[in-house]
Amino acid sequence: MSGPNPETKMQFLFALRSRGVTDSKVLEAMEQIDRGPFVRGIFSDRAYEDTPLPIACGQTISQPSVVGLMTQALQVSPRDTVLEVGTGSGYQAAILAKLARRVYTIDRHARLVREARMIFEGMQLANITSLVGDGSFGLPDQAPFDRIIVTAAAEDPPGPLLAQLKPGGIMVVPVGQSDTVQTLIRVRKTDDGLDYDELRPVRFVPLLEGLGKEG
Ligand code: SAM
Repeated sequence: MSGPNPETKMQFLFALRSRGVTDSKVLEAMEQIDRGPFVRGIFSDRAYEDTPLPIACGQTISQPSVVGLMTQALQVSPRDTVLEVGTGSGYQAAILAKLARRVYTIDRHARLVREARMIFEGMQLANITSLVGDGSFGLPDQAPFDRIIVTAAAEDPPGPLLAQLKPGGIMVVPVGQSDTVQTLIRVRKTDDGLDYDELRPVRFVPLLEGLGKEG
């Protein structure tokens, strides 16, 4: 992270640790990726608070500690290919790019993908491929994935995404009705099938069908 002053940076990292983000590689990645450029306009002065904030297209950039906890739960290793459904601001994808070999990120809003891509270029994160589309169907051409992270809430883990997970792979996804508190779950694909862990209550915008309207 280069943007905030040392005190703000220390408080940002302290908030992450105090909310359970303890994995040193995840903390290092979150220290390297400045959240500032991902938050625009009137909310930019709140970029280093541990809070979700509005972004374009009526969407949100997630709370940093939730980003950290989800990244930690995903157990990414440097050889992994990761799919993120729900690019939003691009912040989560940028952190994943520091931990994985390649990151594919997809959003139904073309504007969000365009803006995130510019930030990735500015940060020289060349291992991120960002695409516009309905991510509930995954990316069959690039599958299978070692890790899949969904940053919008689905009623159930989408079947096509489970199918695109490698054996031994891990998927982290918030599940539940969109207007209530949802549960973050981790799914592991084993030789015998799928193992599910409930991690914590969360609140995400819904995973919607089709493409978003431009604007
Ligand atoms: N990961 C983001 C970040 O770091 O800023 C936050 C994601 S925001 C909470 C959820 C995103 O999921 C929104 O940008 C929304 O457009 C996207 N989304 C919702 N349904 C989708 C779908 N079916 N396919 C792709 N993206 C979707």
